Amino acid sequence: MKIFHSIAEMQKVSQELRQAHKTIGFVPTMGFLHEGHETLIKEAKQQNDVVVLSIFVNPLQFGPNEDFDAYPRDIKRDETIARKLKVDYLFYPATEEMYKSERATLIKVEKRVDVLCGKNRPGHFDGVATVVMKLFQIVMPHNVYFGMKDAQQVAVLEGLITDYHLLINLVRVNTVREHDGLAKSSRNVYLTEEERTEAPSLYRALLLGKDKILKGEEIDNVTQFVAKWINENTQAQLEYLEILSYPTLAKVTDTKKQESLIIAVAAKYSKARLIDNIVF
Ligand code: AMP
Repeated sequence: MKIFHSIAEMQKVSQELRQAHKTIGFVPTMGFLHEGHETLIKEAKQQNDVVVLSIFVNPLQFGPNEDFDAYPRDIKRDETIARKLKVDYLFYPATEEMYKSERATLIKVEKRVDVLCGKNRPGHFDGVATVVMKLFQIVMPHNVYFGMKDAQQVAVLEGLITDYHLLINLVRVNTVREHDGLAKSSRNVYLTEEERTEAPSLYRALLLGKDKILKGEEIDNVTQFVAKWINENTQAQLEYLEILSYPTLAKVTDTKKQESLIIAVAAKYSKARLIDNIVF
């Protein structure tokens, strides 16, 4: 596995790979790798000639009171995992490398951000779209792999790819869970023992909601029921519980319509903000 810290080096190799007609699969991450990331990498390995993994904790997508400084990092451990999975190139730039010159532009996401995390983290998806666009120009991938754990991110990035006519195929990868249903997340390390025992209830709540929708219950009633259930059965502070169409993230008007729905939750424990969703 080759490790690049420099944009120029990564770009040069990507250009050479493209000239040699190799397909490039790209997995962007913020590191502190877990089995969710591993699944993305394995899928990329199966579908491409070479795989590029990036690790970059992007300051632009963190709000002033969010956990940028406290975000878990362990590059040595990540390198070992990446090697084991036979990643070909690890792109691991410093913040100063990624934001070397004073930024003259910012990609502003206009659709699909007035709900869920977009509503609660103003500017977050502008930061995501901007860094992802930069990474796409650096890595020049054919296929990119994103997890449905961050379903709103997938929806936003599909919009970005369409809007800017990017010749990139986005592959949606299903959420990988612990045995008890908790969605794997780098932030799970910040749960106390008690919170960790309780946290799978968030997924259980989503499943209860899905079941009620499939039985034909009104969306508003289901939303209220699930929110109440979370408040009564967990100590987490509920940030949102929403049921929307997917990937448009619009209000659901008619449940009989044949469209995908998302039921999504964000909840705060003492040190970790967790998100989860089901699309069906
Ligand atoms: P992150 O490092 O948290 O920015 O995540 C990098 C990529 O891994 C994103 O596309 C995430 O959606 C994806 N990811 C994170 N957790 C999971 C999970 N539990 N299952 C599947 N994909 C995940």
